[in-house]
Amino acid sequence: MTSQCDTRLLLGTLVQAVPDGPGGKPVLAVTDRGGVLIRDGLIEAVGSAATLRAHAPEGTPLHDYGSRLILPGFIDAHVHLPQTDIIGSHGEGLLTWLERYAFPAECAFRDPAVAQEVSGFFLDELLRNGTTTAVVLGSVHPHSADAVFREAARRGLRLVAGKLLMDRNCPDVLLEEAETGLERTRELIQRWHGVGRLQYAITPRFAPTSTKAQLTGIAALADAFPDVYVHSHLAESRTELDWVRQVYPSQTSYLDVYQHHGLLRPRSLFAHCVHLQQGERETMAASGAAAVFCPTSNLFLGSGLFDHAASRTAGMRIGLGTDVGAGTSFSMLRTASEAYKVSALLGQALSPAELLYLMTRGGAEALDLDDRIGTLAAGMEADCVVLDPEATPLSARRAARCDSVEELLFTTLILGDDRHVAAVYAGGRCQHERA
Ligand SMILES: [Zn+2]
Repeated sequence: MTSQCDTRLLLGTLVQAVPDGPGGKPVLAVTDRGGVLIRDGLIEAVGSAATLRAHAPEGTPLHDYGSRLILPGFIDAHVHLPQTDIIGSHGEGLLTWLERYAFPAECAFRDPAVAQEVSGFFLDELLRNGTTTAVVLGSVHPHSADAVFREAARRGLRLVAGKLLMDRNCPDVLLEEAETGLERTRELIQRWHGVGRLQYAITPRFAPTSTKAQLTGIAALADAFPDVYVHSHLAESRTELDWVRQVYPSQTSYLDVYQHHGLLRPRSLFAHCVHLQQGERETMAASGAAAVFCPTSNLFLGSGLFDHAASRTAGMRIGLGTDVGAGTSFSMLRTASEAYKVSALLGQALSPAELLYLMTRGGAEALDLDDRIGTLAAGMEADCVVLDPEATPLSARRAARCDSVEELLFTTLILGDDRHVAAVYAGGRCQHERA
């Protein structure tokens, strides 16, 4: 598909978060009047606009975004495909919400046509919001994974996805024997993992919906395919913790359930990690497993406040996830805005650089993909978002009063949504442009 020499040059204000502060703390790297030269899906060079204009081959298509911000593509590290249509459903807490909305929505995915139609809408919505990499939970149905992988490939997105695994404590129509689920997962890994920008995640919903046999089988499967991911939930709400204690009485904690069954490992991703002890955070960090901070969902379901500072101190890798449909927006800008408020409540207000890091490089580290995505640098995959800080009357008015790019970035994170996403490049191709 890609031509022998597919080049283009993007010009604007380059902004990215890099771990160059004291102790690896994120700081902003800004290039005023900068450029990104793209060739065959990769970034060939990053630098000043003048230098790149001189360097680019003659006839290279030029996209000059003026003073707009060019950022690395956003990474949504935890989002549920089948819950697209139940976003914003009134719920009480996690377990009630699952029964009332999530399980019925997943049952509707029995019909492959539903999975197909939702997949197209879902990925377009991610793109409209600047997300170029997503870690996606499907339904238990293998065709949900097939549909979302097929559609992601069509849009040039980087996708880590998997079908759910549940062999107890869910509606009968969603139940699978442990062996059946694992066999279907193996087939999906063989079909999709490593195809272009697609990678597979073995996806047990969470400890209470898996038997010991299923968790043990998952670890064996992850051993057989060591570069696939394991993706699940951990320590989201207090009632969930109580349930896990009942279901796994011989394990000392929720984390211990996963550790005991061999699921704490590099390339394991656990959404939420709200209710953890500091020693557990250190255990996770040492294992290489990563946490995904899902602020809109944690606030919406009243689950609790993710302690970013304690998690960083423990050395954990941390990504940011929308967790739609308990999360209330596909926008990573809005998600970052809520992450800021959660951190403010805990007295540890995140800096603009830390917020951008969570949305980009942090997610890439959580996925062990920071050598490919999350920064604007030569050799990286060409995923870029162009943000327009002046997209609405209010944000334009506010932007006029900003004294620095850092301030402009922060107000755009706080006030922004899909209207502020002017263009999105995934794998070097423009996949979305706001009219
Ligand atoms: Zn979730």
